[in-house]
Amino acid sequence: MEVRFFNGGHCRQLQAFVDRRTWRIAPFFAVFLAVRHPARGWVLIDTGYSDGFAAATRRWPACLYRWTTPVTATASTADILRRAGIDPAAIRDIVLTHFHADHIGGVKDFPAARFHHGAEALEPLLKLSAFAQTRHAFLPALLPGDFAARAAAVPLAGFRPHPQLGMPAHDLFGDGSLTLVSLPGHAPGHLGVFFETPAGPLLYAADAYWHHRQIEDSTAPLPPARIFIHDNRAYDATVAQLRRLARAGLALAACHCPHTQRHVAAPG
Ligand SMILES: [Zn+2]
Repeated sequence: MEVRFFNGGHCRQLQAFVDRRTWRIAPFFAVFLAVRHPARGWVLIDTGYSDGFAAATRRWPACLYRWTTPVTATASTADILRRAGIDPAAIRDIVLTHFHADHIGGVKDFPAARFHHGAEALEPLLKLSAFAQTRHAFLPALLPGDFAARAAAVPLAGFRPHPQLGMPAHDLFGDGSLTLVSLPGHAPGHLGVFFETPAGPLLYAADAYWHHRQIEDSTAPLPPARIFIHDNRAYDATVAQLRRLARAGLALAACHCPHTQRHVAAPG
């Protein structure tokens, strides 16, 4: 299937957090994908920050997110797609790999879409206090009021071991086109998506790792970055499995990895 990568805004952070050889402030792009399904049309994987992020972080305690993570996101996710020739009103399906603000920022741009996500991804975040939600990079104001009615939560109990990936997986549409893959650790219920592209199979790992050096050289994130990891033991086990798959020749891509920028048509 045809796949397109987009930048949905970016934040600036010390790159050494995820690549300890590089001590400079660098942009971390919030990449999202559009995959062209033969019957369902363009399916989105995540939605970037979108321009709604600024409004969602205006009030206490959500403003803490903006103060600690300076974000640049001037275009809406719908406009980014429109400029690329994709009609946002025609989007029927959106996969949300997890509920961090840089992945769900644009969901309000799609009032007719259905949201596919891990059942375990949202519940624990909804139970937190507003302050703890901000600390976990979850801003409920980014979700539309009818989110629950349009959400198709997939429970992990329905996932089965994938013969090639060696991880629990779920065939999203029952046609083998898009496979949700459990990549635990980074956030509750964190998912990747496995699909066929014109260049071969691709496992989009979302935030299962941040930087290609974690896969190539076993570089580990510095402790300050680990504060944002939900389950460090599961995170390390997921990265180890992704490393095995990459060594066996599987193509990987991750949301914030600089290598992913090679796929983005117009980096911004
Ligand atoms: Zn994340």
